[in-house]
Amino acid sequence: MFYRSHVLVCTGSNCNIKGCQGITEALRRELTRLSLEQEVRLVETGCLGLCEHGPALVVYPEGVMYVRLTAADVAEVAEEHLLKGRLVPRLLQPTATVDSGYSLNMSPFFSKQKRIVLKNCGLINPDSIEDYVHADGYIALATTLDTKTPTDVIDVIKKSGLRGRGGAGFPAGRKWEFTRWATGSPKYLICNADEGEPGTFKDRLILEGDPHLILEGMIIAAYAIGATKGIIYIRGEYDLSIRRMEHAIAEARKLGLLGQNILGSELEFDVEVCAGAGAYVCGEETALIESIEGNRGEPRFKPPYPAQQGLWGKPTCVNNVETLANIPAILQHGAEWYQQIGTANSPGTKVFTLTGNIINSGLIEVPMGITLREVIYEIGGGIPEGRSFKMAQTGGTSGGCLAEEHLDIPMDYDSLAGHGSSLGSGALLVMDDSHCIIDLTKCFLKFFVHESCGQCTPCREGTPALYSIIDKLSRGLATESDMRLLKRLSRTMQSSSLCALGQTAPVPVLSALVHFNEEVEAHFKGDCPTCKCHTARGGRQSAN
Ligand code: SF4
Repeated sequence: MFYRSHVLVCTGSNCNIKGCQGITEALRRELTRLSLEQEVRLVETGCLGLCEHGPALVVYPEGVMYVRLTAADVAEVAEEHLLKGRLVPRLLQPTATVDSGYSLNMSPFFSKQKRIVLKNCGLINPDSIEDYVHADGYIALATTLDTKTPTDVIDVIKKSGLRGRGGAGFPAGRKWEFTRWATGSPKYLICNADEGEPGTFKDRLILEGDPHLILEGMIIAAYAIGATKGIIYIRGEYDLSIRRMEHAIAEARKLGLLGQNILGSELEFDVEVCAGAGAYVCGEETALIESIEGNRGEPRFKPPYPAQQGLWGKPTCVNNVETLANIPAILQHGAEWYQQIGTANSPGTKVFTLTGNIINSGLIEVPMGITLREVIYEIGGGIPEGRSFKMAQTGGTSGGCLAEEHLDIPMDYDSLAGHGSSLGSGALLVMDDSHCIIDLTKCFLKFFVHESCGQCTPCREGTPALYSIIDKLSRGLATESDMRLLKRLSRTMQSSSLCALGQTAPVPVLSALVHFNEEVEAHFKGDCPTCKCHTARGGRQSAN
């Protein structure tokens, strides 16, 4: 059926919480009341990106976005825009301008982005395999099965330079190669969707917005590595992601995209969803494997690596959601195409959740190498309420805090590592000048104390010890010896903790010491410049 307009209502988690269900129902009623059902198609879609301004909808073909909607606003949008063709200025998204013709594609929030992973998010109905196929879905899989051997596929991914998007940045093609050539059967492919850091929710929105993209990436990966069984390990709290993924799996099975003889080939592969119980450490691949096996989620000693001995002792490849979401586009457009996006050592794009003191918080995808300044001031719209930028934490809770002098460094694996930070989980937390670095570091450490699994001594004992020193510092009670211990303990944890949780827990501390040394010194002398800590303006307190 031909429709003159499509209305896409965001049903991502954030808009869900803000009541998008009521918007959809009200719109459906209005379309009936105005007899527009045959002319206007209503689509419930994934995250549109501007989470701060939800609930939101977009009217196509104009590409006009309305935000902060209530059910009461819907009648006005339906009557004015859908019936009479007139805009409703008071509800337009904040970056819409006369120059851009109010089209969301012309606004800096969207035009500065490069969408590969999120290309369908906010454009298709995630519960419809037909919508995915109409958007060129499963073409990469069909072409790959027809024209490439598993080794060819691995070569393409290696040549593309794709690095794992879960935090470590290990080359994806090499990981596949290790599993491909490992001995043992069956082989497993696990999609790691267990993101658990505060402020990190990119994988959740990718799963909710385009579940078939993940399945297609998984089927291609399974073909390359020789896996017959796939598991998507999703954080248990992500009920919408679980529901959408399970629905997508059922749809794919019906069409012969999962199971035996996929698309008439000899490929056999099936997928199931496993819900995690909410431990942050289960994002570590071996802890995740333990959890799937029904054990307590604790990291294993490595080697052996999962590629040799993973799930149930068999060769296993664990890839992050965003890594898998890149696969169909790379196979469809080629490794050279992918290499031209981003930087030489970090090709492609990166999905970030932009949160904190930023006008346009939400979900974005940008080319690697973009600067923090561009992300914060052009895409993010700057710092609200007339305040100044103070710092940005990249990479989630285990990432370093960067200061104003870092606004122009390229955001890629190597540049951020060179400044003591990382791309990590894709969380980008922006903070204005009202925040205290010591107060924030204390919050981050509290998280690690809570999430440490306790298996190894450096992390089990080190995280509370770091917290206790930072707490003393925040009260103006830290001694010279405490400050020396803070540095020594941080280095010990980085070099001797068993997994990345303990190895990276000191990163926020170390970045505070390097990039915000004056503020650390002020606390040592008993002063909190932002008056957030108890010692504020009280002078140095007695340790007794
Ligand atoms: Fe557990 Fe921490 Fe050791 Fe990792 S580093 S194994 S989370 S105690």
